Amino acid sequence: MDKKRIIVTGGAGYIGSHTCVELINAGYTPIIIDNFFNSERFIVDRIEQITGLRPDLIEVDCTDYSGLMTLLKGYKGIEGIIHFAAYKAVGESTQKPVDYYYNNIASTTALLKLMNILGFNNFVFSSSCTVYGQPDELPVTENSPIKTAESPYGRTKQMCEDVMKDYQKANQDQKVVSLRYFNPIGAHSSSLIGELPRGVPNNLVPYITQTAAGLRDHLTVFGDDYDTPDGTCIRDYIHVVDLAKAHVAAIEYLIRQKNGIYNVFNLGTGRGNSVLEVIRTFEEVAGLKLNYKIGPRRSGDIVKVYADVAKANKDLEWETELDLKDALRDAWSWERSLKEN
Ligand code: UDP
Repeated sequence: MDKKRIIVTGGAGYIGSHTCVELINAGYTPIIIDNFFNSERFIVDRIEQITGLRPDLIEVDCTDYSGLMTLLKGYKGIEGIIHFAAYKAVGESTQKPVDYYYNNIASTTALLKLMNILGFNNFVFSSSCTVYGQPDELPVTENSPIKTAESPYGRTKQMCEDVMKDYQKANQDQKVVSLRYFNPIGAHSSSLIGELPRGVPNNLVPYITQTAAGLRDHLTVFGDDYDTPDGTCIRDYIHVVDLAKAHVAAIEYLIRQKNGIYNVFNLGTGRGNSVLEVIRTFEEVAGLKLNYKIGPRRSGDIVKVYADVAKANKDLEWETELDLKDALRDAWSWERSLKEN
């Protein structure tokens, strides 16, 4: 009963499930809130398999304020909320903008309302480097300008950050952080949890692993005529386990704060890798040749982005421990484990 409980919305999802594992490793008890809209129930079993602890599961939609209230008001000893649950497909958000605005903003506002009423504190929000758009200077620091979002998805992240800033201003005892993720990739080293893209993946690494596994014929590299050393776009790929550990560090950072605060942190490795570098590294760790072709540019792609992570390193007392090779090796093991099951 004296366990430190952390609510993890979207706790059965990709980053959420890895964060539950790291919370448990650090002595916390996650309470997963998930509606399994874009995640699978068996992931909760897998978290238990990895850690030996089964998180509580509350099945409710985070936009359902009264449902959340009913289910959470009995809980004691809540130390914080990590809010992952959100729609996240950039392309889909341009087709269904209102769904994205409604889901992502209603869930965040419902949770903030409830925090205040139930007397919870320490709110960690999943934001994204998409808020920086095409940056003018690299690496991107937390003070780099916020650019007009390229998609409704990106705009929901910007809007939620504004909502949290206003919330914290009006509720000075509250402690809130936004974590701006760069490109999370990889999987848990046990291959028991990992990314589960629905349908054709949009992101590079799941597309690579599915191509290598024979589920896709070939990977298309979206443009090799950019102004970069090899002509392909550059991103900051961070291992999902390092990212998960940053959430534990963020909760502990908030718990340490004596006064209310709103703060923002970049979470990346601080290094940029091109699409071709990712392909070459994958080929090396997987020991195979990937079938890929150079295709046209994808509209809206950022040419080059990577993080300055000095602020997270210092304030969160957190650093990445894994590199691109580790992440691609783990992503490949995960893909192969899916084929076996
Ligand atoms: N990319 C690619 N082929 C794919 C998917 C992605 O060449 O099938 C490239 C994409 O153009 C970008 C990088 O890989 O330069 C990362 O794309 P992803 O969608 O994973 O992340 P984001 O663009 O959102 O940072």
